[in-house]
Amino acid sequence: MDFDLSWLLLGLPLAFVLGWLASRFDLRQLRLENRQAPKAYFRGLNFLLNEQQDQAIDAFIEAVQNDPDTQELHFALGNLFRRRGEYQRAVRVHEHLLSRGDLSRADRDRAQHALAQDFLRAGLLDRAEAALQKLEGTHYENEARLALLAIYERSREWTQAAEVARKLDESDQASYSTRRAHYLCEQAAEHVARGEFDEAGRLLRQATEIAPTAPRPAIDTAALQLRNGEAGKAFDTLVALSDTAPLALPLYASLLQQAGAAAQRSGEALALLQRRYAAAPSIDVVDAIVALGGTTLTDTGAGTGDGEAAVTPRDSYVAHLQHQPSLAAASRWLAGERFEREALHPPVQRALDQAVRPLMRYRCAACGFEAHQYFWHCPGCQAWDSYPPRRVEEL
Ligand SMILES: [Zn+2]
Repeated sequence: MDFDLSWLLLGLPLAFVLGWLASRFDLRQLRLENRQAPKAYFRGLNFLLNEQQDQAIDAFIEAVQNDPDTQELHFALGNLFRRRGEYQRAVRVHEHLLSRGDLSRADRDRAQHALAQDFLRAGLLDRAEAALQKLEGTHYENEARLALLAIYERSREWTQAAEVARKLDESDQASYSTRRAHYLCEQAAEHVARGEFDEAGRLLRQATEIAPTAPRPAIDTAALQLRNGEAGKAFDTLVALSDTAPLALPLYASLLQQAGAAAQRSGEALALLQRRYAAAPSIDVVDAIVALGGTTLTDTGAGTGDGEAAVTPRDSYVAHLQHQPSLAAASRWLAGERFEREALHPPVQRALDQAVRPLMRYRCAACGFEAHQYFWHCPGCQAWDSYPPRRVEEL
């Protein structure tokens, strides 16, 4: 074949020069375009620093239109929309980012995380849940699991919450065993409400295994045993608990008294309550002691100072006043007393009882929410174990 090599020698440099010129032209074009984008970007930034968010958004939109490839601008814009409560627009920005094929793995995760934040803030929990689940295995995994846990707790989906808490437990960041025990107790309570006592018992045994020193599984177990007519077992459960969780005694003093009485072991119950009362006096423990017909006084008449007079259980309330100026104790003592002008007693008692009511509440240490019922999970701030086991008057 006749082939002239001189053409090749001339053609190669020519192709090189043409290619170089073409690339110069492209670069110049690109620089021209990019020069417009930073200008709008800096204008937006300036507005943002001056707290002029509306103008900042306009400038950023302009910048994004000039250069649709700028991820950082998309993120800035999305965050701005979210902060202003314009969740739909924030979602659109982040979904647009995610739809792009050229996004790096890190930016894709970041956009997915931002999208989950949008849904969370908008209160669209179903969509937030789906977005958070996609963050599994990413840099945002732990944060996403905590957010998922909050969603499941709020919607009382205890099985899902338990699964997430188990993963968090395995990741070694913190211990979630007490929390997982709470979930099992919550599920058990639902079974008790439906009359499914066997299933409730099974879940409570699991809870005790996961968190053997936590008071709730033992208290719930004892309550279930007492309900099932197993008073002896209930009493033993609470006696064991009084060693592992003595500070929580005010919460289960009444249950201990009932179990002790039902199991014909009132003497044992009384001795235990008296011993614990001497170490940590509390009105709930006094109530349980009085209900068992005992007193908090170790020596006859020592607490009341009236020497020869016979000591009655209710004298324990007066003795309790030496530990604490408790209006509740005063009111309980007064209720059983007889007065010369007995007709005047009821209105005084009513006024006192009304004053005592708010003092008998429990108060969340995290948010201050008060309630007559003791909560393991604060309905105010969603914190677990945030209520001290003592009444407001004793705090
Ligand atoms: Zn709270």
